[in-house]
Amino acid sequence: MKYYVLFGPPGAGKGTQAGAMVERYNLCHLSTGELLRAEIAAGTPLGLQAKSLIEAGNLVPDSVVEGMIESKFRDTQGVDGFLLDGFPRTIAQARALDKMVEVTGCISIMIPDSLIQERIAHRAHIEGRADDARSEVVQNRIATYHAKTEPLIDFYRSAGKYYEIDGTGTIEEVRQRIFSAMDKL
Ligand code: ADP
Repeated sequence: MKYYVLFGPPGAGKGTQAGAMVERYNLCHLSTGELLRAEIAAGTPLGLQAKSLIEAGNLVPDSVVEGMIESKFRDTQGVDGFLLDGFPRTIAQARALDKMVEVTGCISIMIPDSLIQERIAHRAHIEGRADDARSEVVQNRIATYHAKTEPLIDFYRSAGKYYEIDGTGTIEEVRQRIFSAMDKL
């Protein structure tokens, strides 16, 4: 089994690229953001707990997302691996993941901060996500990314598992860069 971490700042295009990646490599796409939004939509206790945190641009507790990922690992069959999108987002989550499985590689889509805001503003019109609509929430997500998530770059780099992809340009250009990195893994 392959375990890929799809990494990048909010708005880098992880969700956009994930579809092509899961198809080409027969992976199960696990997006913690999507899983959490499904819990919110279903009105579960977990969803209720997550809603206010997400809508303020904060992270949900590590234990919550770790539990969701672990149960998906257990319940999913018929794939060659997993594409983890939005997880891990903290060093603690990365350590928890290392206890569950051996990560194959971290595919990191990089864009500058200026492009982050532009892409999220654009997505707010299309997808109508509550956490995309308010600029102070987006600012907080970017700050949270720099403070809590960016340290994962060094974490995976020192493990020799970090593959950085230039996330600027067209969707197709970025996809080709990702494929040429993943074909070697
Ligand atoms: P984006 O790609 O724009 O960052 P996501 O859909 O991945 O958005 O995540 C939306 C929100 O869900 C995050 O801002 C955070 O509040 C919560 N979330 C998602 N994944 C995690 C995680 N691994 N740990 C903690 N919170 C998470």
